[in-house]
Amino acid sequence: MDPLLKKFRATPAVVKADAESEITIESLEGSYRFYDDITYEITFTPQDESDVPLDEEMSLVGYEKARKTYLVKPENGRLKLRHFFAGEQEWRIHISTREYKKHENPLFEPYRPYWKALIELPKKGIDVHVYSLNDDLYKRKPMRGDLHVHTTVSDGGETPEFVCAAYRRSGRDFVAITDHNVFYASKEAEARFGFLKNFRILKGEEVHNGYVGFFHMVHIGGEHSVNDIYLNDPERVKKETAEIEKEIEIPQGLDKNEYLGRVWMYRAIKKSGGYAIHVHPYWNIGFYHTSTKMSMAIIKNGLCDAFEVIGGVEPHENNMQVALYNELRAEGFDIPIVGSTDSHSVLNDGHLKRSTVAFVEDDIITAIDEGYSTAVESLAGENVRAYGRLRLVTYTHFLLKNYFPLHDELCEISGRYMEDYAHGDDSVKELIIQTEQRLDMLNKNFFGK
Ligand SMILES: [Zn+2]
Ligand SMILES: [Zn+2]
Repeated sequence: MDPLLKKFRATPAVVKADAESEITIESLEGSYRFYDDITYEITFTPQDESDVPLDEEMSLVGYEKARKTYLVKPENGRLKLRHFFAGEQEWRIHISTREYKKHENPLFEPYRPYWKALIELPKKGIDVHVYSLNDDLYKRKPMRGDLHVHTTVSDGGETPEFVCAAYRRSGRDFVAITDHNVFYASKEAEARFGFLKNFRILKGEEVHNGYVGFFHMVHIGGEHSVNDIYLNDPERVKKETAEIEKEIEIPQGLDKNEYLGRVWMYRAIKKSGGYAIHVHPYWNIGFYHTSTKMSMAIIKNGLCDAFEVIGGVEPHENNMQVALYNELRAEGFDIPIVGSTDSHSVLNDGHLKRSTVAFVEDDIITAIDEGYSTAVESLAGENVRAYGRLRLVTYTHFLLKNYFPLHDELCEISGRYMEDYAHGDDSVKELIIQTEQRLDMLNKNFFGK
């Protein structure tokens, strides 16, 4: 976590683009307080597109000359000022003062040559960050989660209730339980945790064409199981697939049986009212993976609703999936995306490596379907990477740095109590509710609503 997040807070940290907003800046921890009897110098620097003209020399510091410096005195230790935030972008707010001497620790004087950096900190100043958003994104709330997870209902290591608690503990706002061949394994977990407003459990299944079927398709939502049709009524699948053959053309170069089977599977998920995600196409290349041609056909011909661009597979396999995504977009197919872990245990950190950030107005799946999501890869020891539309990736990085670390701290507390609650300890319910209320407060401060 950026240490400054523990020391200073700008409220709100997300504002409307091309509008004036009031920002309040507070010192939280007290080592560098804002005193009412001194004047602070404050500048707003946009992190992408300048809001002031470049100087005549077009020098490296060319924008600085035209940038306004606000002179502000705090009220009750809070700096308040209004600024016009041009465009959709991140802003660095720099706060410094030359008048700190009157509040300096007297012990500093004999150490002046030695503690220079510490003593001059107020003069050098500190930064806080805010983000201005266009209306369509401003009205949406970021939620981070995972739409491909296994539990003990199939080959996962822990129960759905425990898995849900672990996901909350890891800072996730939603999780879909998608066990192999079994629909709605999350039923009890949903009932148990139904009182949570900010944590959503989605029903689902990973659909295969029968046991050990070659197809893998994640089905979210929906009214009934598609796996059950394969397992209980294989004759129906055969009959309906034969009907489809009369009606559609098989794209050239594709295996007829596989293509028709995939058409049937997608239509069955849609008949159930569900959302279909084409998962891990490059999982286990050369053994189980979906061929590039077939994946292209699935996405281009609308045989899935979204693509798991980052999935629970090896880094080079995910790299291939990103390349496939880029190829499709270059050809004009802007498929909605998710990042999922395909987690089979929540006790080995595998469930932390990948996630989806959805920018939600009402419903998580609608947001993804409308293209308001990024896929995030956060492998241990590596820098976090986000994939998707440029403006969403840019905003995701701002959130990963400035919002999610604070959000995740509270989720960890809430999720820890949820673990006890999952085991049947009802006495912690009030603690969960109270912690979630703290999260509501953080959201209200951060997003200004
Ligand atoms: Zn799978
Ligand atoms: Zn899976």
